Amino acid sequence: MIPPVASRFVAGEEPATALEHVRSLNEREIKAIVNLLGEHYDSRAPAEDDAAEYRTLVRDIATSDLDACISVKPSQIGLDLGEDVFRALLEEIVDEAAQRDVFVWIDMEDHTTTDVTLDAFEELTTENDGGVGVCVQANLERTREDVERLAELPGKVRFVKGAYNEPAEIAYKDKAEVDRVYRELLAYAFEHFEDGVAVGSHDPEMIEYATSLHEEHGTPFELQMLMGVREDTQEELAAEYEMWQYVPYGGRWKSYFYRRVMERKENLLFAARAVLGR
Ligand code: FAD
Repeated sequence: MIPPVASRFVAGEEPATALEHVRSLNEREIKAIVNLLGEHYDSRAPAEDDAAEYRTLVRDIATSDLDACISVKPSQIGLDLGEDVFRALLEEIVDEAAQRDVFVWIDMEDHTTTDVTLDAFEELTTENDGGVGVCVQANLERTREDVERLAELPGKVRFVKGAYNEPAEIAYKDKAEVDRVYRELLAYAFEHFEDGVAVGSHDPEMIEYATSLHEEHGTPFELQMLMGVREDTQEELAAEYEMWQYVPYGGRWKSYFYRRVMERKENLLFAARAVLGR
């Protein structure tokens, strides 16, 4: 059972509780990106189990008529075991999703996985007429070139600042520099991406910049934020823009919750207050 303090960030351990959360979001005009928590499996069984759960989730989303899609981590579906395992399991998920018209996002992990992830995205989004999306990270120096390649493909691209602590030889380490590159990538994307731009950020300055680019270019776009972060703002933005909430669920919630608490001291304070009942 997930303690109340963590349930701000995680929508329960079971798919049914996650879908309940999705329904309540949909009632407030917010769409959902559902993610089963799990990563870096070093054996086949959990990777296959999670892939099977995603296929069931896709069917449940389609039959319950929810405004939702899924987001999958490469190392959750076998990347650490081999590119072939990852590609095979991802293809099974995308096939199921395509049949039911459910969109599939591929999360981006650390820089050692970027090429494999982009290659899998390119193949699947081309085969499935843009029913797949991928995430790119502003903190990696290579991303500007990757984005030029992605502009030629169907499917959606989610722009984030980057969550992984990458080596200085290949990444921007200074926050102001990451912010600058993030803006440059958004400017490029709003000019060149026909299928729209997904802005995965809680940063008010980046959101304002994205809306101004939308006004300038007319490019369709969506905003994406995590469950439990700036939820009031999510509701306000949903009244005007396409707003998606990333909704993690599952038994492996502890490390995800720990990350959310560690990345921002306000979250730590919130957690402490909840534990102390104040
Ligand atoms: P930050 O630079 O962290 O913060 C900028 C400003 O935003 C802050 O000053 C504050 O005003 C506001 N803000 C930020 N956090 C909070 C908060 N908790 N509460 C209140 N205000 C806040 N990373 C990956 O590497 N791969 C992925 O696949 C990936 N997918 C993601 C999907 C989604 C939907 C989102 C939202 C993020 C994803 N990320 C991913 C994480 C991303 O890379 C960043 O680490 C994370 O979003 C923090 O950066 P930021 O742009 O939100 O703003």
